[in-house]
Amino acid sequence: MNHDVIVLGAGLAGLAAARDLTAGGADVLVVEARDRVGGRVEQTRLPDGRLVQLGGEVVGRAHTAYLALAAELGLTLVPSYVAEPGVIARATPEDVSAGETPHWFGPGDDAVHRQVTAAFTALAGSVDPDDPWGHPEAAGLDRLSVGDWLRSEGASPAVVRLWEIGQLALADGSYERTSLLAALRKNAAVPGSDHSGHYDYEDWEGLRVAEGSATVALRMADALGERVRLRTPVEAVDVRTGRCTVRLAGGETLTAGAVVSALPVGPLRSVTVTGVSDERLASLHRQRHAVAAKFAAAYDTPFWRDSGLNGLSECEGLLGSTWPQNEGILSALVPPERYGVLLGIPQGRRDAELLGDIARLYGDDAHRPLSTFTRMWGTDPWTQGYVTHWTPGDVMAVGPLHGTHEPPFYTCGSDQWVAGYMEGAVRTGRAAAEEALRRG
Ligand SMILES: Cc1cc2nc3c(=O)[nH]c(=O)nc-3n(C[C@H](O)[C@H](O)[C@H](O)COP(=O)(O)OP(=O)(O)OC[C@H]3O[C@@H](n4cnc5c(N)ncnc54)[C@H](O)[C@@H]3O)c2cc1C
Repeated sequence: MNHDVIVLGAGLAGLAAARDLTAGGADVLVVEARDRVGGRVEQTRLPDGRLVQLGGEVVGRAHTAYLALAAELGLTLVPSYVAEPGVIARATPEDVSAGETPHWFGPGDDAVHRQVTAAFTALAGSVDPDDPWGHPEAAGLDRLSVGDWLRSEGASPAVVRLWEIGQLALADGSYERTSLLAALRKNAAVPGSDHSGHYDYEDWEGLRVAEGSATVALRMADALGERVRLRTPVEAVDVRTGRCTVRLAGGETLTAGAVVSALPVGPLRSVTVTGVSDERLASLHRQRHAVAAKFAAAYDTPFWRDSGLNGLSECEGLLGSTWPQNEGILSALVPPERYGVLLGIPQGRRDAELLGDIARLYGDDAHRPLSTFTRMWGTDPWTQGYVTHWTPGDVMAVGPLHGTHEPPFYTCGSDQWVAGYMEGAVRTGRAAAEEALRRG
């Protein structure tokens, strides 16, 4: 069967690309390995009707491509956990505390925190997110980890620990193994930021789709109908001007004038790609993910409010964070540094141990959920990770080919934006479609 364009992967990026290509008059087929669309956005419904998000969930006011798409799809944006009353909690092996100031802070740490935050945001202002390679100090900034940079700026161990626990909360890979240039680029990519901090929750996480995050994917797939083919893993792609060939598991081949890859970088490495330059492939294959698991626990009521807490936490336990995703439903992330620990827990013990971390924060009611859900994204064969991660040296090694196309081979997906996120998926998916349509 011949098509104008074959899109690989029915996550947000692939679906957004296919939607725009179809609107532009192209004959499109989306091939998806799983038996569902959405990729890293996935949801399920409790018997009482509440939706539970098992993957990507919140967006921010700076996520303009995602917000525009949600509006086009007739979906409603509402405040996320940021609207929850109460204060944040932090748990470390030695203590649990509530409120903005961490329990390990001593005199002077607050001032040092403000000072390094200001230095970081000022430095981020010197980085062009579309061309971090053009920065005069690019290679040096990329070689340095955020942890090493913080210490070089005079951050106390207590301040480094606050930055690190925030990073654990995002499950984005330790700041001791994160490129400073990548972190600056991420900060610089959010033009709406008021630069009050190095990760402004309102900019990045202040909103959610009321109908459910995964509904964004489901709506696009509904409109595409039979143009989305499920249970169809791709094994090989051969790219030739005028005729690209896509070989599926099982041996069937499809042909098209162009191919849009919307695959995460891990699964893409398992696809044999020919007819694309070695440089383009080497750049794609050099990208990596932080691995993480998501845990969700559904309760009758948001019982954490009884203690004046908002359900948001940063933790150094098996869990890196919790936040309320919906009335009475807590989300939690197991960061890369703890993923191996989670895998080592006998299956039948996992819930009890994860709930133990929540009980330490919010009390024994945590042990009595209506339901729990654990989603091991890091070892999911069709994700092989969680979100893009840049260790020191990665930004320079991936290089300026990051996020670029080699027509008739187009690339998109959240890994092809500065910092991942659903915004990255939608933004790059739509951009790939625009470029493919422009080139006819
Ligand atoms: C637990 C978790 C929480 C997150 N939280 C947030 C959040 O709150 N806010 C936010 O903005 N982002 C969040 N993210 C990130 C966000 O969900 C993703 O970055 C985004 O959804 C990725 O979209 P994508 O289309 O690029 O990739 P994917 O969604 O991964 O889609 C890729 C598709 O390709 C398919 N595929 C893979 N290999 C093959 C193959 N060989 N053949 C055919 N198909 C294949 C996959 O099955 C998948 O459907 C989270 C992610 C996770 C996992």
